[in-house]
Amino acid sequence: MIVAHTFEEARHARGEGRVGLVPTMGALHAGHRSLLDAAVRSADRVMASIFVNPLQFNDPADLEKYPRTLDADLEICREAGVDVVFAPGPDVMYPRPPLTSVVVSRVADFMEGPHRPGHFAGVATVVAKLFAGLQPDMAFFGRKDAQQLAIIRTMAADLDFPVTVVGCPTLRSPEGLALSSRNVFLSEVERVRALGLSRGLMRAADAVEEGIRDAGVLISAARSEMDGLDVEYVELASQQDASPLSVLDRPAFLAVAAFAGAIRLIDNVAFDVIDGRFSPDRGIRVAG
Ligand code: AMP
Repeated sequence: MIVAHTFEEARHARGEGRVGLVPTMGALHAGHRSLLDAAVRSADRVMASIFVNPLQFNDPADLEKYPRTLDADLEICREAGVDVVFAPGPDVMYPRPPLTSVVVSRVADFMEGPHRPGHFAGVATVVAKLFAGLQPDMAFFGRKDAQQLAIIRTMAADLDFPVTVVGCPTLRSPEGLALSSRNVFLSEVERVRALGLSRGLMRAADAVEEGIRDAGVLISAARSEMDGLDVEYVELASQQDASPLSVLDRPAFLAVAAFAGAIRLIDNVAFDVIDGRFSPDRGIRVAG
């Protein structure tokens, strides 16, 4: 496995065949590992990027305390069979404050957008830089961040990046909590409260399987499990452009953002159309 610190080194190490890229901010967990595994299965060469992107943090304190575990991350990448890790420093990624920003309008206007000003421009800008600088053929993202996935698909289409964007299921703890690098900050009490997010989403998924299509009813079903949480939003949104839906009538996701104590968490359940029926993607529960 080669660890590259500049775009040039990473491109040089790229090798032959179809290249799959897994962009991350490090502090890797089983969710990231599942993206690496998906890339190893479908690409000839796999690149992972590890970069805590200051542009996408709207809160400097959050950036400051974001977990950084490079040695453990490199071990996970090595075990997964990654060929190249791109781990640039901030000075490589942004030798000066960038004057160019990638803003995906409309898709960024809902849910996370208003709550985290500048966040999605930061994400779209860094992913555009990774696509341009590393030139992958495929890129793997988690459905855990469903709105982010819609933004990246839109950005790649609008800017004609020749990259196939692949969305992968959410990895969860055995109790249902979506794995996240920020979960390390949860106290025991907060962790128990945090289970309300996934419990609510699974309850709404049950309702969809029972034939319910009204967004208001699905949202109430989800909220009924979220008593101990400070909920920012629960919304049903289109997978294509993240716009709010009042009825489940196309591929969609039910998304929630909530505080468990001081820790802000997001989660969602996607509703895909399979054989003409709405089918919830509840994610994958893993031990450990
Ligand atoms: P991050 O390092 O948090 O920026 O995440 C890097 C990638 O991992 C993104 O595409 C996320 O959507 C994905 N990811 C984060 N958590 C999970 C999870 N629990 N299951 C699957 N993918 C995830």
